Amino acid sequence: MFQVFPFTAIVGQERMKRALILNAISPQIGGVLIRGERGTAKSTAARALAALLPDIRVVADCPFACDPTDPDLLCDRCRERRDAGESLPEAVRQTSFINLPVSATEDRVVGTLDIERAIKLGERHFEPGVLASANRGLLYVDEINLLDDHVVDLLLDSAAMGVNVVEREGISFRHPARFILVGTMNPEEGELRPQLLDRFALCVDIEGIADRAARVDILERRVRYEQDPEGFCAEWCAIEAALTERIATARALLPEVTYDRSHLYAIAELTAEMRVDGHRADIVILKTALAHAAFGGRRVVGEPDILLAAELALPHRLHRSPLEDTQSQLQRLEQRLERARAEAEEGEPSPSSSVPEPAKKKVTR
Ligand SMILES: [Zn+2]
Repeated sequence: MFQVFPFTAIVGQERMKRALILNAISPQIGGVLIRGERGTAKSTAARALAALLPDIRVVADCPFACDPTDPDLLCDRCRERRDAGESLPEAVRQTSFINLPVSATEDRVVGTLDIERAIKLGERHFEPGVLASANRGLLYVDEINLLDDHVVDLLLDSAAMGVNVVEREGISFRHPARFILVGTMNPEEGELRPQLLDRFALCVDIEGIADRAARVDILERRVRYEQDPEGFCAEWCAIEAALTERIATARALLPEVTYDRSHLYAIAELTAEMRVDGHRADIVILKTALAHAAFGGRRVVGEPDILLAAELALPHRLHRSPLEDTQSQLQRLEQRLERARAEAEEGEPSPSSSVPEPAKKKVTR
């Protein structure tokens, strides 16, 4: 069996890992955009994340991988079957990893309704698209800046709404489309339109790692993985399993995590101070902070959660001019983050360290 490079064996890039994990805990945060040069582990990380996510219980013969335990999240087909008194067959499946090619069209993504068949035979026939196979999985788009704007728009809508509705000539079909959206781009190959950029919930800029010891770790792990994928993955198996478990626990805890008005004021203060346009950032910070609290095993959101969420939600939403302003804004956020991290480290386990480090070496970014 093909062994994906373990997520926890990726050296450094803590911010990227945190953004991915939090989106996996709460896909409706609305997607992660990873910007960086080629060869910076972007696609490795996305694949690796899908591979470690907990298995899911599905309706065995449903192309949308409906969740049999949640009647609110059934596709039209499963709902009709259930309403007709059928008991839906169940199966357990791995979290899917769907790689969307940049040539994908709207029909390919959302699926199609066969109108001719509906008119001639009076039956509704829906041909599932990519969003069907992506439900409850991870949808990965490499070089998303090269994808048709309209299609990017559709993906972002579905990721945030968690549902795909296709309507034609008065006929409609609806199925759940809750997926972890991960887009990557190399800024040197063209930008994403600002309107689309703002709709990506989280954004991380990653760079190659300059630290020599860390570079040696990257090299060593890569070589060992290539020589003996199974042996290498076996070494990381326990750490991977621990993270899988922690994500599953966080998912279960998430609906119980609470906040009050003071947290909302803290978020508003932050976004007002940073002069962020619109209100999308505030909502994203809240959702991300809740996921971060759940990941830390806490039932109440705290300031560190809010700040660490802001660090992921703000970089692509700050005014680009004048440059000095942006830099000092980021510095101020950085200072607050430092304090928040220090506070978080006093408690345990540190919610900011997304992944336990391997036993033998301490890796620095
Ligand atoms: Zn279904």
